[in-house]
Amino acid sequence: MPEAPKESHANCLVDEKNEQALQFIDDVTNKAEEVQKRILKEILARNANVEYLQKHGLNGHTDRETFKMVMPVVTYEDLRGDIDRIANGDTSPLLCSQPISEFLTSSGTSGGERKLMPTIEEELGRRSQLYSLLMPVMNQFVPGLDKGKGMYFLFIKSEAKTPGGLVARPVLTSYYKSSYFKNRPHDPYTIYTSPNETILCPDSYQSMYSQMLCGLLQNNEVLRVGAVFASGFIRAIRFLEENWKLLCNDIRNGTICPEVTDQTVRDAVMKILKPNSKLATFIEIECGKQSWKGIITRLWPNTKYVDVIVTGTMSQYIQTLDYYSNGLPLVCTMYASSECYFGVNLNPLSKPSEVCYTLIPTMAYFEFLPVNRENGVTTLHSESTNLSAKEHHELVDLVDVELGREYELVVTTYAGLYRYRVGDILRVAGFKNKAPQFNFICRKNVALSIDSDKTDEVELHSAVKNAANHLSPFDACLIEYTSCVDTSTTPGHYVLYWEVAHSNTSIPPPIYEDCCLTLEESLNSVYRQGRVSDKSIGPLEIKLVENGTFDKLMDYAVTNGASINQYKAPRCVKFAPIIELLNSRVVSSYFSPKCPKWIPGHKQWCTNDFNQK
Ligand code: AMP
Repeated sequence: MPEAPKESHANCLVDEKNEQALQFIDDVTNKAEEVQKRILKEILARNANVEYLQKHGLNGHTDRETFKMVMPVVTYEDLRGDIDRIANGDTSPLLCSQPISEFLTSSGTSGGERKLMPTIEEELGRRSQLYSLLMPVMNQFVPGLDKGKGMYFLFIKSEAKTPGGLVARPVLTSYYKSSYFKNRPHDPYTIYTSPNETILCPDSYQSMYSQMLCGLLQNNEVLRVGAVFASGFIRAIRFLEENWKLLCNDIRNGTICPEVTDQTVRDAVMKILKPNSKLATFIEIECGKQSWKGIITRLWPNTKYVDVIVTGTMSQYIQTLDYYSNGLPLVCTMYASSECYFGVNLNPLSKPSEVCYTLIPTMAYFEFLPVNRENGVTTLHSESTNLSAKEHHELVDLVDVELGREYELVVTTYAGLYRYRVGDILRVAGFKNKAPQFNFICRKNVALSIDSDKTDEVELHSAVKNAANHLSPFDACLIEYTSCVDTSTTPGHYVLYWEVAHSNTSIPPPIYEDCCLTLEESLNSVYRQGRVSDKSIGPLEIKLVENGTFDKLMDYAVTNGASINQYKAPRCVKFAPIIELLNSRVVSSYFSPKCPKWIPGHKQWCTNDFNQK
């Protein structure tokens, strides 16, 4: 029988792996320009025969100059035709010479449905490589993490099949279900409190319950806690608030509550579970205290940091996380998407407002479209494919970005996206060797977001228009509206402020509730999934405000320097004094009485192929 590695030998192996990872980062950032050139060449050479490149006349060229001259910069809408063909079963090499293994469903939407990103088998290896860089980086700042466990709340989501038979699911669901995750080799850095079975359980309640139970049972071993996004981690804490008595009962008695019916989950948890009344009493005392300030450090006393993304719209949760964690470092480790994994944070203990990500030059070929911000307002390039010749010329390569400037990220990937606009705005914050490091500024056009939902002003406006139709039979009409997210509730929810003009007929409350529901029904499928399946978004609220409120809003803006001629009511507000002004003039409020409709997959796909749960 092979001997288990002796402790010192095991330590050496860990050190060696860490060293290799850091060396890799150093190498590819030092040679960023050559690496990028090579990556583009490789992508274009192996895909020389694909229809898309041929259609644009690339003619087998693999050099950057011809590529930039011939290939257009595109958005998802430009690829819809090709993507629909693949979804409907066309297996010819349309975008990529390798077979499309599945679609990754992005939280970005098009026509109200998740965007479908084609991917190939080998991309899993690339994603896995990016993950393998995270702990070696972290270890430089917080040593000893190999001596304990990570309590991460990770979930899979439902998947669907396209009419052509390809699986369509979110990128993390794909990753967690892959052998890269399930059969990961023993590594002291990827030991989690959650057994794989609990992460892979499709029922979100059972998954959360069992992961929380396992996390509590191993509380003293936990050195770091986290989830992918801040919203997910807060959801876990709120779950604990609602379920701690049940969880403590299970810990005391060595049982698993009957709501967890999945036998594989039960079996996996039973391997960890032993009756422990001392631990149960400890948790009951802590959770029973009136204040939950610092609950993370109280229940998991050896925790060194909270590993969650708090950049972008997730920054709205920083205060809550600080409260629950007693100010532990909030660590954003990576920046990634369904299209491609981009980069890592090489200075993970930096403050959330200073987080910057170093794009790893081997992940894809990156280009950058400059954007201008004046008075805090971003001037974006036209959404359509047809960037002007001048705009086309403005795209720069990874090593040519300028410190302090903002850019829209454009990628060319191994899976068949060429000069594709991801939709994220980044600002150059510094350099690691020759490779730039970026602050994540925002996702273009996102007005409202609670979890992974991203609602833009156009969608919101059309949803409001649909909803306001309910007012016409009452001789009433919507004069103005704006919106915000309210994350003080559990879970957070969208709030619409409506100023309504009506004759003397009063409008019964159920009509406004219908308005709320119609609004929700009109929003995109990621929003509706958050409401129905993930339960990460609460019922939408309409707050009616006194007549004249939007005039007051304009007065406020004008007093603060806005031009009367150009003033338009903002469709979304974030500034606290404005929200206070609106709230001070609310006359009544209404909530959506039930969940909107949502089914996995795209609305145009036939429903009998759905592979729900
Ligand atoms: P998806 O297409 O659903 O995989 O979402 C990817 C998008 O999530 C990215 O394009 C970003 O807009 C956002 N995102 C991913 N990582 C981060 C991060 N570290 N900070 C801020 N936003 C992020």
